[in-house]
Amino acid sequence: MKSLIEMTEALDHVTPGIASEHTLFYGVEAKFYSARPKVNDKFETKIKGLYVGGDGAGITRGLAQAGANGIWIARDIISRSN
Ligand SMILES: Cc1cc2nc3c(=O)[nH]c(=O)nc-3n(C[C@H](O)[C@H](O)[C@H](O)COP(=O)(O)OP(=O)(O)OC[C@H]3O[C@@H](n4cnc5c(N)ncnc54)[C@H](O)[C@@H]3O)c2cc1C
Repeated sequence: MKSLIEMTEALDHVTPGIASEHTLFYGVEAKFYSARPKVNDKFETKIKGLYVGGDGAGITRGLAQAGANGIWIARDIISRSN
C-alpha cells in the first residue's frame, strides 16, 4: 500500500490532480511489444495466405485499432476469394 501511495504521489507531479481524494486506485499499464513479424501493406506475411494482426503481432495497441486491423485483413481475404 505504501508503494502504491508513493507511486500516486509521484504521478501527481507528472499529471497534477491524480493524487486527489477522488482517486481510489490507479494502476500503471506497461506494454511490451517484442514480436513484430514482417508483413506487407495487407498484413500478410511472407507465407502466402498467412496474415498477422492485432496486438499479438505488435501492430496495434488498443481495441479500436485491433478491430479495424481485423476488418482490413478480412476484406483482403474476401477480395481474394472473389
Ligand atoms: C487490463 C486491460 C485493459 C485494457 N483497456 C483498454 C482500453 O480501455 N481501451 C483500449 O482501446 N484497449 C484496452 N486494452 C487493450 C485491448 O484489450 C487490446 O488492444 C485488444 O484486446 C487487442 O485485441 P487483439 O484481437 O489483437 O488481441 P486479444 O483481444 O488479446 O485477442 C487474442 C485472442 O487470441 C486467443 N489466443 C491466444 N493464443 C491462442 C491460440 N494459440 N489459439 C487460439 N486462440 C488463441 C486469446 O485467447 C484471445 O482471445 C486493455 C488491455 C488490458 C489487458
